[in-house]
Amino acid sequence: MTAILIDGKQVAAALRAEVASRVAALTFTPGLAVVLVGDNPASAVYVRSKDRAAAAAGIAARTIRLPADATEAALLATVAGLNADPAVDGILVQLPLPPQIRPQAVIEAIDPAKDVDGFHPVNVGHLHDGRPTLVPCTPLGVMRLLAHAGVSIRGTRALVLGRSAIVGKPMAALLINADATVTVAHSRTRDLAAECRRAEVLVVAAGRAEMVRGDWVSNDSVVIDVGINRLPDGRLVGDCATAECAAHAAAITPVPGGVGPMTIACLLDNTVTAALGRRA
Ligand code: NAD
Repeated sequence: MTAILIDGKQVAAALRAEVASRVAALTFTPGLAVVLVGDNPASAVYVRSKDRAAAAAGIAARTIRLPADATEAALLATVAGLNADPAVDGILVQLPLPPQIRPQAVIEAIDPAKDVDGFHPVNVGHLHDGRPTLVPCTPLGVMRLLAHAGVSIRGTRALVLGRSAIVGKPMAALLINADATVTVAHSRTRDLAAECRRAEVLVVAAGRAEMVRGDWVSNDSVVIDVGINRLPDGRLVGDCATAECAAHAAAITPVPGGVGPMTIACLLDNTVTAALGRRA
């Protein structure tokens, strides 16, 4: 069989349009503040796209830039200022941070009600408790792609490959909350291929170019490839060998154009959720 390609660009465009119409119906303008420390080129690109997408959705976006040698105290003072600013509904501190700054200290300083990345321990706790909360954007985007693809998650065997705090763990929590039977696999998992083959929904977030091969994927499964890897020849590939996996799966996300575009769209969605939570 040949899998259906799940078009993340299209689903993300629809979500951005939906966010824009929700914003248009508000009596106030939601505000998003993005803090960028240093001049990591990849981070600068992400921050610019976040800024543009927010503006297009009618969200007032502002980028605060700190120098690469900024102290942790300076960044914490910036975050405190944004916490106190009533026009700011969402705060995002772009990761990674320079080595002199502890990311956890910064994440914990953000007001949980403005934590549009969903990384604050309060929001992490709510997610694991199955309570409504601000949820990390990438796994939230995956849930929306699964919904768009018509996957009924209740009772399915799902496997999440990767256990990071940003993708793997919140992904597993969302799937558990949606009543899947979830396995989390990682770098110490024995017989990874066999674990993957048992999955009806396979979400891959390992950061290893084309690691998941066609014979790791069971027939009729749904494969979501979160990975983004740049090969030495410049090509961008996911964590799955897409063509091989597509020969077995019922549906699969491409890279690029799958999960990637969903992340920013979900950030906008989270900003409106945070704004309504604070101001309603
Ligand atoms: P990470 O490096 O923090 O975590 C990777 C996880 O994969 C770890 O838990 C590790 O145990 C597991 N892993 C690594 N190698 C493995 C192996 N050989 N076998 C089994 N498990 C292995 O990465 P992350 O931040 O979770 O990101 C994962 C991937 O998703 C990366 O490619 C990243 O670029 C991509 N990503 C994409 C988006 C997006 O918007 N689409 C957002 C975040 C991350």
